[in-house]
Amino acid sequence: MIIELSPEIRRDELEHVRDYVAGGFRSLKEIKCGGRHFLAVSGDRTNLEPSKLDVLPGILSVSPSDVTSYFASRQFKPLGTTAVQCGPLEIGGPDFVVIAGPCTVESEEDLQATAEAVKEYGGHALRAGAFKPRTSPYNFQGRGIEGLKILSSVGKRVGLPVVSELMHPSEVEAASHFLDMVQTGTRNMTNQELLKSLGNAHRPALIKRGFASPLKDLVGAAEFAMYSGNFNLVLCERGIQTFERATRFTLDISAVPALRIMTHLPILVDPSHAAGRSELVIPLALAAAAVGADGLLVEVHVDPKRTMQPGDGPQTLSPKEFLSLMKQLEKVLHAMGRSLARPASPL
Ligand code: PEP
Ligand code: MN
Repeated sequence: MIIELSPEIRRDELEHVRDYVAGGFRSLKEIKCGGRHFLAVSGDRTNLEPSKLDVLPGILSVSPSDVTSYFASRQFKPLGTTAVQCGPLEIGGPDFVVIAGPCTVESEEDLQATAEAVKEYGGHALRAGAFKPRTSPYNFQGRGIEGLKILSSVGKRVGLPVVSELMHPSEVEAASHFLDMVQTGTRNMTNQELLKSLGNAHRPALIKRGFASPLKDLVGAAEFAMYSGNFNLVLCERGIQTFERATRFTLDISAVPALRIMTHLPILVDPSHAAGRSELVIPLALAAAAVGADGLLVEVHVDPKRTMQPGDGPQTLSPKEFLSLMKQLEKVLHAMGRSLARPASPL
């Protein structure tokens, strides 16, 4: 249950509310955000009736006692999108953003060359994984903190904010210092300890949809991060598991308008991990723009054939293909009355 308190609530009134809801197996947490003040009540709901609380002095409103997502939902913000600042980049504002880069930090030279192409062709942020979730322990697991340091220095040199995935709660606080935005991956959308640790990140977070998770649970994943204190969140549709084998996953394009109704958080689409094949990436990316996404997360490498094997080379765009994507995106966005975000300052 979430109780919204009046900003003018007196200490004694707050104590009265606390006394009223405390007890049993319940814990209380004060949450302040956007100039608003809340008391979140977790635990046993026995004898917890919103109608009895509503009338106490200093209370503005009380959610139903069985609410599962509040801060991430439209109950918290009925209209519009809550834009998130990722370094100089605004995600979820009027303009469309493109976050691009290789699957993995491999050599610094390749990352630098890829980042230069991303920047030159109008990409807004650089992505690359250093902690890699893999289907087998015999695949490359990523360069870890060393990889984040390389990503951070390449991003600074080229002038692009950087995004990378973190997989373990214990690495979030320290590792987030190297990043402008932290990412949690599809395999970790139900890892609640990791989601809660995003409250310790000093950065906004990008939460990818679990490949077998309904949208309600994606919003619920964001709620865990918000409850733990991180309100700067972006969601990402990246394909779900279906019976279809012609693509790696099935991009759920309906997730974008459906999520808009469910949440005020910005919504990105990752066509690369959904498609699994580079020739499908541009059409899916254009569909994401047409359906109203706030931006893309897309895999690009200076030379996709040179990426580590096994890896995501087959779904990775070359710089030439990336340029073609950016040109086509402009046209689709124009037709939708939107534009690409302004590029970061020149190289
Ligand atoms: C990624 O973006 O690098 C990634 C591994 O994606 P996902 O978690 O969606 O598979
Ligand atoms: Mn990848």
